[in-house]
Amino acid sequence: MVKGRSSLEHTAREVRDLCRRALAGEELEEPDLARLLAARDAAAEVVFAAAREARARGSGDAVFLYGFVYFSTYCRNECTFCFYRADNAESPRYRKSLDEVVAICRDLAGSGVVLLDLTMGEDPVIHDDPGYAGLLELVAAVCEHGGLPVMVSPGVVPDEVLAGLQARGADWYALYQETHDPELYDRLRTSQPFAARVAARSAARRAGLLVEDGILTGIGDTEADRAHSIATMRAAAWEQVRVMTFVPQAGTPLADVPPAGDEAELLTIATMRLAMPHALIPASLDVEGIGGLERRLNAGANVVTSIVPPTVGLAGVSQAELDIDEGQRTVAGVLPHLARLGLRPGTVAEYRAWLAAAHRRSEALP
Ligand code: SF4
Repeated sequence: MVKGRSSLEHTAREVRDLCRRALAGEELEEPDLARLLAARDAAAEVVFAAAREARARGSGDAVFLYGFVYFSTYCRNECTFCFYRADNAESPRYRKSLDEVVAICRDLAGSGVVLLDLTMGEDPVIHDDPGYAGLLELVAAVCEHGGLPVMVSPGVVPDEVLAGLQARGADWYALYQETHDPELYDRLRTSQPFAARVAARSAARRAGLLVEDGILTGIGDTEADRAHSIATMRAAAWEQVRVMTFVPQAGTPLADVPPAGDEAELLTIATMRLAMPHALIPASLDVEGIGGLERRLNAGANVVTSIVPPTVGLAGVSQAELDIDEGQRTVAGVLPHLARLGLRPGTVAEYRAWLAAAHRRSEALP
């Protein structure tokens, strides 16, 4: 008993020291990042408190709210974790028209979000469209009529399409590796080479886009795997990094995997915050809905993603329906939670200033 307590105290002391070093600007190595990810109980609270301190120093009390428009749920790929994989007959399929997407984006912009995130599966109709003309037209229309910065998540597309997205006004390209361990990757994204996604993010940066990478947890990953991912994303200096807990999906090969709790996701958010104090790090509503938001913000997130307007027939990615039609995944649904934590929604002007600084940093990279 006494031995157990002193060992826990040792861990808490060790974790406190690692947090102090991270807050002082030291770049922690992968084994130390893994130690933070392994913190439990009081030691975990030390990590969360340090992450909040890092967030306060980097972005004060502002949290940016992102609108999410999953405009096509068709996909040619067979990722084993995904509800929308090509052969899943249980997933809802729809493809919104350009006019529908623009109307949804205008409404979202009016609701108080600062970014419009246009996401799709690798829809064969869009990917087989010569020159991706339809996608580029849609992005141009949203950039022109939405009045807000735009993120595009189209999957892997040719380099010239990335340049086309940037030329039409998009700021961001999001493409998640899910894990930076090639073996684990091959069990998740079975129909797309690891290197193709790595190359696409690099090409997006060369095209002048800001980049988001991200990982999944609860899919057989270890603390060492997540530490490796964090170190890899830090080395790339991606402007936004996200983690989400795997949600088992009906009709998929991983449907029977027992759901994980949110502990690993929260510690990963906090460790990413300490490792990348200036990055944007989302608290996604797409894992546990509005009920999980405060825990993610308390772990150091400074963005809320997957705000979905109700009653327009849009789905989430991991949680196709959770809290959407109830109107909980809206700006109005999020604001009371920010206020309770002493946080506030960042303004569009603040977000545009952040983007301008990020573009300058990106251009200065070797
Ligand atoms: S994760 Fe994306 S690329 Fe993979 S099956 Fe799902 S929608 Fe398609």
